[in-house]
Amino acid sequence: MTTAYSGKHYFFQEEKVLINVVGVFILTTLFYFFGAMLRLVDELSLFWPLNGVMAGIFARYAFLNKPLYYFVCYLAMIVYDSVTTTWGLASLAVNFSNMIFIVLVARLLIRDQVRSKGTPRAINALNLFNYCLIGALFSALFGAVASIDIDDRNFLPLFADWFSEQFATGVLILPCMLTMKTPVFRERISADKIYPLIGVAVSLGASVMVGGAGSLAFPLPALIWCAVRFTLPASCLVTFLTGVIEIVLVANSIIEINSHATLITSQMFSARLGIATIAICPLIVSISVAAINKLMAQVSRRADYDYLTGVHSRSGLHEALKIMDENGNVPRQMSMMLLDIDYFKGINDNYGHECGDLVLAAFAAKVGQVVGERGLVARMGGEEFAVFCPGADAEEGYIIAEQIRNAVAQHAFEWKKNRLWLTVSIGLGSKTRSWDSFTEAFGELMPHADRYLYISKNQGRNRTSAENMPSESLTQRAV
Ligand code: GH3
Ligand code: MG
Ligand code: MG
Repeated sequence: MTTAYSGKHYFFQEEKVLINVVGVFILTTLFYFFGAMLRLVDELSLFWPLNGVMAGIFARYAFLNKPLYYFVCYLAMIVYDSVTTTWGLASLAVNFSNMIFIVLVARLLIRDQVRSKGTPRAINALNLFNYCLIGALFSALFGAVASIDIDDRNFLPLFADWFSEQFATGVLILPCMLTMKTPVFRERISADKIYPLIGVAVSLGASVMVGGAGSLAFPLPALIWCAVRFTLPASCLVTFLTGVIEIVLVANSIIEINSHATLITSQMFSARLGIATIAICPLIVSISVAAINKLMAQVSRRADYDYLTGVHSRSGLHEALKIMDENGNVPRQMSMMLLDIDYFKGINDNYGHECGDLVLAAFAAKVGQVVGERGLVARMGGEEFAVFCPGADAEEGYIIAEQIRNAVAQHAFEWKKNRLWLTVSIGLGSKTRSWDSFTEAFGELMPHADRYLYISKNQGRNRTSAENMPSESLTQRAV
């Protein structure tokens, strides 16, 4: 289960060292500030976004993973502490444990990207979960020992606090950091996008009212609903915000896990781990949905377009007509033509199948170029193509057909220093009447086009045939 993440425009650029240094310093300071603001419960922070954010940035910009930028990040933390706390030397060790998490998780994520070359920059929900676990474990071991001096608790509660906090924040923040991109609001906000959000809000309300450890899982179905409805980045953001809200509510005893006792470390430990474990579920769903959607788009593209020539496939043309039918506005004039390349077998026989394929693709491109916005081009099979021109009466249909025929006859198809010349025979079917749909018109005109193509072939090829052959002057206009 992997999905791609990448940003289009970058703040950080490999060659702009000064900007990168300043950027890393400012971001570190900013998120250190946020974390410090949230030091509500005791000396250490309740929610510490810095490590998750910086690990995400280092993972997204692999070129930042150099001692220089790690050092700038570390320096920013120490400078902040030296200005705002009296931790002294202990600050060096506490912040070193932050760096352990950042560097370890970033490096593990980058290793994943390098490994999965086929799917560039992929996130894997389960790997992410494990990496946060590893990062939090090492960071907490070091951090707990380092903070014994500045905290009056002993090793175990400190370790539990560090570990659960690092792990939970990592699991909540990293998916956002890795999938984040500039939002594009293409569609209006519809009810089916609002309901899942209402669901999240209601279930959070229920958690507060009901309380107890189980209430932490209440938002899970609504989060999975969001994962199915929203894009991956949006779903990650909603899950992140819900997780943070839950942590803050638990820490302030607004969600009461145990109403008979004041909040103790082991409860916060358990709550954070529970929230993080719950948060990974919508992520897994969201990544799976994104992967399925990508696959569906790929499959339908394969079915709708001809692989060799890039024009509509036969079934793709029918799908396109159906979509046009849904939009209405069916004109009275309709034309369609069938094209069959003359003596195409000779190309294969003389120059090989590979040359034949190349010529077919070039032929389709030429036809598409001549037809332009006036109609749809489809490959019906082999070297036979259809051009459907809604809105074109018999005269205009004939002009388009002759333009195609002349353009093909005058075009030299190149193959390994050879110049190949082709001609095409065309059968045209046109009718003006009131139609129920484009699909109906296409179905009715097809046998006509087929019959006149047969006539074109029989009369010597390289010609257009139609029911009412136009005057000489019209033939001139098409040239
Ligand atoms: P005409 O239509 O003028 O009667 O002669 P033709 O030689 O074009 O005859 P026909 O339409 O019967 O032959 C079509 C040939 O097109 C047969 C087949 O080898 C070739 N062909 C069909 N599909 C492909 C393809 O995808 N790639 C290549 N290279 N050749 C193809
Ligand atoms: Mg042919
Ligand atoms: Mg043929």
